[in-house]
Amino acid sequence: MASHSSFPEEVLIIGAGVGGLSTAIILAKLGFAVTVLEKNYQAGGLMRSYRRDGIECPVGVHYLGSLDQGQVLRRFFDYLGVSSAIPVSRMGENGIVDRYLFDGCGHPGIFDLPPGMDGFEEELKQTFPDEREKITKIVASIRKAAVQLHALDLLYATGNDFSLLEQSRPLGEILDGLGCSPGLRSVLAVPSCWIGVPLNDCPAYYHNMALASYVSSSYRLQGSGAQMADALAGRLLELGGRIVTGAEVSTIQVSSRVVTGLQLASGECLSAATVIGAVHPKVVLQMLPEGAVKPSYRQRISGLKDTHGIFSVHASLDGDSHPEIPYNVFKIDRDHDGNVRDLKYYQILKSERKGRSLLSILTSGRDELWASWGKTKSGQRGNDYLDAKEQHGRQLIREAEAVFGPFQGLKVLDTYTPLTVRDWVNSPGGSAYGVLRSSSQMLATALLNRTSVQGLYLAGQNVMAPGIIGTIMGSFSTVKLILGADEFRKVIRL
Ligand SMILES: Cc1cc2nc3c(=O)[nH]c(=O)nc-3n(C[C@H](O)[C@H](O)[C@H](O)COP(=O)(O)OP(=O)(O)OC[C@H]3O[C@@H](n4cnc5c(N)ncnc54)[C@H](O)[C@@H]3O)c2cc1C
Repeated sequence: MASHSSFPEEVLIIGAGVGGLSTAIILAKLGFAVTVLEKNYQAGGLMRSYRRDGIECPVGVHYLGSLDQGQVLRRFFDYLGVSSAIPVSRMGENGIVDRYLFDGCGHPGIFDLPPGMDGFEEELKQTFPDEREKITKIVASIRKAAVQLHALDLLYATGNDFSLLEQSRPLGEILDGLGCSPGLRSVLAVPSCWIGVPLNDCPAYYHNMALASYVSSSYRLQGSGAQMADALAGRLLELGGRIVTGAEVSTIQVSSRVVTGLQLASGECLSAATVIGAVHPKVVLQMLPEGAVKPSYRQRISGLKDTHGIFSVHASLDGDSHPEIPYNVFKIDRDHDGNVRDLKYYQILKSERKGRSLLSILTSGRDELWASWGKTKSGQRGNDYLDAKEQHGRQLIREAEAVFGPFQGLKVLDTYTPLTVRDWVNSPGGSAYGVLRSSSQMLATALLNRTSVQGLYLAGQNVMAPGIIGTIMGSFSTVKLILGADEFRKVIRL
């Protein structure tokens, strides 16, 4: 570890997730001296996969939207200089990106989401022929969101020509107003549920951007999340940036509301005039000394509601009996009004091991199931916790067998709970997608990359939107804040 004297005038970034690394790359490209401090022993945060039985198990990257030429994530990857280091394959070549399977009776039983906006609109109209006019209106907003997304309006448009406020009403309310059937409502509810915000409280623009990002094009990693993390980390090092792993930041040092540096859990101090917390805002708040920020800021941040956690199972299967399925499968539990109560996400992929496929199951974390172990650290939760995880995992596998048929050669590789995620990346309560970007929290979640401390900024999935696209978009917006909008437009050509 270098001492603070070797970091004059540098930018210190807390957290080497995709948010911290991408912010660091942008700044390093602009000539800043950047050091990223990461508490774990490897960079990547949620993006990083982990290996069990020779197989890479994904955590925070199952698929990626908008990687076609000219689309938003491709433009980001190209700017960051990582496109060729993150090989991907396009989904939907067989006509399906996502298969939605709805539980019980009601229309539709299945909905296949195809690639491309035209195909999506057509599929909706064929499935709900009596609602063609409503669908035209709904898809028009999603098309508009796609145009804004790929044109990078969130970064480059001025306040006058771009306003999200017109689309801030909850989508559920808009669909009620249009008189949509429960079936159509349930199909449209899946993306908002997937990003952890219930339809009745999900701002329309937020839903539309998320849906637009992967209807535009969807891709899977050809390699692993670990490779993706290494690609970003490698690029930063190539640009002269530094990553210090095993470096947990405990305190952000502030004097008269101006940031002066950081203190690590080891006691070491690093000085800098610019610090970026690419971690949850509540984590940043905990690092700030009493009185460093206005009480109103402290109150706003500590009162923020977060998205729920995720429970996941990884199992390997006999590869001949269970070859890769080229699309995602969602099993959806909905009520009579078409609101999604819960969903299970399934992915079956070819694995690194010959003759073995990887089954991943993700579902809501049911935080209450794990609450009694909440105060105990990872690795010390005891056999009861391990048994409870295993049982829950087995139940999810049985449910998956009802979808795919009996699994041949199944071997459970791992299960993780919201507590695992909480301890791995310091996400409050194990929240998967961070701050809940709901209509009711619109004001409280606005401009989260600013703080009232001079020189202290935030980045990561919480500042704008979660997901790889949302998080990298947040990195650019934080750099814009540091540089000023005019300078940003001048020096960053995406
Ligand atoms: C289960 C799951 C599935 C997902 N699937 C997808 C998907 O398919 N596609 C998609 O686009 N998005 C997906 N996402 C979302 C996406 O993974 C996240 O939005 C993104 O990775 C968040 O990146 P981040 O940098 O903001 O946070 P993180 O990855 O959490 O990074 C924060 C980093 O800060 C470090 N840190 C925390 N505290 C400290 C400290 N005190 N000192 C030093 N370092 C610290 C952490 O260890 C971590 O490395 C998924 C998320 C989850 C949880």
